[in-house]
Amino acid sequence: MLFKNKIAFLTIFCFAVAVIGCKSKSSMAKKVLVAPIVSVKLDTVIKTVVVHDTIPKLSLGEHKVWTLEKAGLHNDVRQETAIHYDIRKPNYVIIHHTAQNSLNQTIRTFQVEHTKVSAHYVISRDGIIVQMLNDYVRGWHAGLSKWGSITDMNSISIGIELDNNGKETFPDAQIEALIQVLDTLKSNYGIPSSNFIGHADIAPARKNDPSVYFPWKRLADRGFGLWYNPSELVSAPDNFNPIDALKIIGYDTRNLKAAIVAFKRKFIVNDVSPELSVYDKSVLYNLYQKY
Ligand SMILES: [Zn+2]
Repeated sequence: MLFKNKIAFLTIFCFAVAVIGCKSKSSMAKKVLVAPIVSVKLDTVIKTVVVHDTIPKLSLGEHKVWTLEKAGLHNDVRQETAIHYDIRKPNYVIIHHTAQNSLNQTIRTFQVEHTKVSAHYVISRDGIIVQMLNDYVRGWHAGLSKWGSITDMNSISIGIELDNNGKETFPDAQIEALIQVLDTLKSNYGIPSSNFIGHADIAPARKNDPSVYFPWKRLADRGFGLWYNPSELVSAPDNFNPIDALKIIGYDTRNLKAAIVAFKRKFIVNDVSPELSVYDKSVLYNLYQKY
């Protein structure tokens, strides 16, 4: 097959929406939205949103075709077509470090069959931005994770991997390229500042990326992620409950020590012990009021 085992990289963001409209006997429209296909493994990912049950199958070239049942329709209920809709948008951005040694190594990791991981973007140390999945496609970067009450972060987020081995700083060129991508995502999808977070935030017991070297404050200063106000730090009041505060921010506190370490890796940086000092609590107290 023409595209078998090949990933197509498109440098231009394209969103192809094919609307096939025709009238059935009952005058109900059949509409088929073909979601964007950018950098997807064409024989494994489905891009169809099918409205109306009278279309048994859609042939999309070499793309795998979902049956209607798998495309989200209940075959045993009455079907009526509403005409107002579009494609669901990402609402979070999850930042990772690759823990690998080169851009090409990471690209390959996301292209071989057995790894079962991917991200929408990979950014090299010198600022090369590679898009590997369309923004609207559900990438496999978050894994088992939780933020607030959300338990399927992959379904609502964009994953960005920074080429970094986890023990080194992030070069300026890489961070500036990241900010360029974040700027576009924020403006395209209306993602709020608080929803730019790290992998360790949503999976504190499993993950530690991005590392303490990641410049979260610099990002927050540009509108991506929230930061406390250093000049307004005060001692947390006696009735302050730090566990509730962590939960309000979004942390999964079932493993409290892991949640505290994740919080401190990001906001305290020079001490990532699993206890909250008086200072740590004052930072947490200041920060959680922004949520
Ligand atoms: Zn990660």
